[in-house]
Amino acid sequence: MDFAREIRVIEDFPKAGVSFKDITTLLKNGRAYHAAVEALVQAIAPWRPELIVGPEARGFLLAAPLAYALGLGFVPVRKAGKLPAATVAQTYALEYGFDTLEVHADAVRQGQRVVVVDDLLATGGTMWATANLLRKVGAEVAGMGFLIELTFLKGRDKLSDYPVFSLVQYD
Ligand code: IMP
Repeated sequence: MDFAREIRVIEDFPKAGVSFKDITTLLKNGRAYHAAVEALVQAIAPWRPELIVGPEARGFLLAAPLAYALGLGFVPVRKAGKLPAATVAQTYALEYGFDTLEVHADAVRQGQRVVVVDDLLATGGTMWATANLLRKVGAEVAGMGFLIELTFLKGRDKLSDYPVFSLVQYD
């Protein structure tokens, strides 16, 4: 399947100069959504994950069905203040300012192999923070999967400690 055809590109959103990749058009097409999750399953299964992790919010839309398809558990990574039990936090730099991600402190077992799945790899900041968070709680990050990679932003360079897979690339 040509996944790029299913993704809508909106120019100048959320601000001038940004070419936003809108995955809602892919998600509402059942065949495309199913095929995208299946393709991610094929890429990720060889990393032998024991758990799938997804950062909010669009990461959930891929990580949860992937976990279900593999018969694995799903762990959410959320913005600060959203998770109810004891958490571990990681702050990371945005274009302007900082943001903080959290995971439940008891979300993974020591040495458990986790694969993180998000909708899009841009600068890699979100995934770098997520991987750091998971290492803090004792996980082994076995790989990272994305629906989309903006290759010109070189996010992979920031994630060179990990195997990275993406289904669709824009350069
Ligand atoms: P990064 O941290 O710079 O790699 O940005 C990745 C995060 O920003 C992901 O969680 C995406 O959901 C979001 N993001 C950045 N650009 C886009 C886009 O064009 N479409 C959808 N999400 C985007």
